[in-house]
Amino acid sequence: MYWGYRESFLCIRLSFVGVGAEQRLLTLLSYFNSFVTRTNTCGELRSAHVGQEVTLYGWIQYQRQGLFLVLRDFQGLTQIIIPQDEAHSHVKKLLSNAPVESVVRVTGTVSLRPPGQENPKMPTGDIEVKVETAEILNSCKKLPFEIKDFIKKTEALRMQYRYLDLRSFQLQYNLRLRSQIVMRMREYLCNLHGFVDVETPTLFKRTPGGAKEFLVPSREAGKFYSLPQSPQQFKQLLMVGGLDRYFQVARCYRDEGSRPDRQPEFTQIDIEMSFVDQAGIQRLIEGLLQYSWPEERGSITTPFPSMTYEEALADYGTDKPDTRFGMKIVDISDFLRRSDIQFVQNALSYPRGTVKAICIPQGVVMLRQECITTDAVCDTTFMEHSFPGWYSSNFPDSKIAPSHSPPSLLQCSALGSLRLESADLLEAAGLVLRNPTVFHFLWVVDFPLFLPKEENPTELESAHHPFTAPHPSDTSLLYSDPTKVRSQHYDLVLNGNEVGGGSIRIHSAEQQRFVLEKVLKEDSEVLSHLLEALEFGAPPHGGIALGLDRLISLIVDAPSIRDVIAFPKSFKGRDLMGNAPDYVTPEELEPYHIQVSWPLAEKEAKKT
Ligand code: ASP
Repeated sequence: MYWGYRESFLCIRLSFVGVGAEQRLLTLLSYFNSFVTRTNTCGELRSAHVGQEVTLYGWIQYQRQGLFLVLRDFQGLTQIIIPQDEAHSHVKKLLSNAPVESVVRVTGTVSLRPPGQENPKMPTGDIEVKVETAEILNSCKKLPFEIKDFIKKTEALRMQYRYLDLRSFQLQYNLRLRSQIVMRMREYLCNLHGFVDVETPTLFKRTPGGAKEFLVPSREAGKFYSLPQSPQQFKQLLMVGGLDRYFQVARCYRDEGSRPDRQPEFTQIDIEMSFVDQAGIQRLIEGLLQYSWPEERGSITTPFPSMTYEEALADYGTDKPDTRFGMKIVDISDFLRRSDIQFVQNALSYPRGTVKAICIPQGVVMLRQECITTDAVCDTTFMEHSFPGWYSSNFPDSKIAPSHSPPSLLQCSALGSLRLESADLLEAAGLVLRNPTVFHFLWVVDFPLFLPKEENPTELESAHHPFTAPHPSDTSLLYSDPTKVRSQHYDLVLNGNEVGGGSIRIHSAEQQRFVLEKVLKEDSEVLSHLLEALEFGAPPHGGIALGLDRLISLIVDAPSIRDVIAFPKSFKGRDLMGNAPDYVTPEELEPYHIQVSWPLAEKEAKKT
């Protein structure tokens, strides 16, 4: 495992600059030594450096019997030979007694390793540094966990000592790759396509609809700022302001409580353009991703395929289909119409009732039963027998899912979940369905403009957000039957995860007011500034936001988005290192005219 660590360093650094580009790599490495007193990084020295006097700084990764140690920095590892002669007894004592993870400075001479002791898996494996002088800059006390990547540690401990976790190869790699990708995105947008990087406020006011916003008290009694869930209004206002092409690496805030793999603050690559249509935004994003895609993750082909919302639901049971594998939902109603299976007949007797199934070609692996083959009937039987709990909780009233209007949301999404659960089971049994090195991008388009509210299905809410424009062919329906209007909203899906979403916007004040007041029944007063702006020569415009954290986590195949964020919050939205959120005193609250019900707060305090 120890060698694995070294090897990974080798692969990553070389692949960053392209295979066979050792010379370019060395040039790149020398940039890291500007402004500091080291001569080289710990990943830099090669046989070409033999005979040179060097000064290295790093952390002690490993120390062996006072004979040698391995020094680590962000760049790699170098073997350091501890002198054994009397004249260097002080250096020997110092380095032999220093605990691992102490920070040291060493000076010495680069020499070739003795024949047979080279390590071809290590970039610096041909050489070692014979120490002349050494200094312990900070001795490391007993660690709460070992830094090595392969040592398992609890998530809570990793968060509490995030600065130690950040020393691990994996986090270093993730954050550096993220930085490089963002750099390339900036280049593409600003240098190649004339986008302007504009910062927008994070102290703002409440936006109707959508996610819950964090409130920030103000010194004006009863008045609060909201932290924006995205720069949506500002980016549209920038278009009204004639900026033409806006982009921002934008921090967004959503107070959605504990949700697995969501963060209350997260980052979007936020984009808006004037005089653009849906196809224009799609081509821009394809170009952007292709340009910034890390070489070491292979290449991606464009244009990305596209699927309508209705197709996605009908075939995959979700609006973010994982298209890396088949097992699509199929309608088997006709096939079963003449059967005498009672529950099937019941299902088909509903108006427009259908029976749908997924075919799991290797389902036999899951059941360890010989009777399951590739035909649809057996797979329907399979659903019944293998997921009785899941099945009855999803379809409490019938033995198989009837559909009242195709595609039935409930039926399709239940089958969609079954499809993914089956894929998990098949993979647990050793079959590879979703190769993590394969990237399937997909556009999902033609969403409905409005959906019934989850908590009250008689009312409508925006499927995306209230600023999304109707599909040009459905505009008149907006005023007659809004439930039937498709929108100019598009989502970008990667391997079954939504990594971006956007829309062409409403740029007519009259239409925007109608949507807010008549369809969504929102108080349009909160948006009067935007409505007014739309009356002052607002250009047609549209945009998109890419979820940067999720995108990077998929690129590096991280188990959680927390692994690509330097200081993430816990599952419950807490910062376990600094212990935020934290209590403040009544005196500190006074300027904000806020009083906390203290008995309640104390009770809460005892719980944590
Ligand atoms: N602001 C939207 C979001 O955060 C994206 C967009 O419509 O551009 O989902």
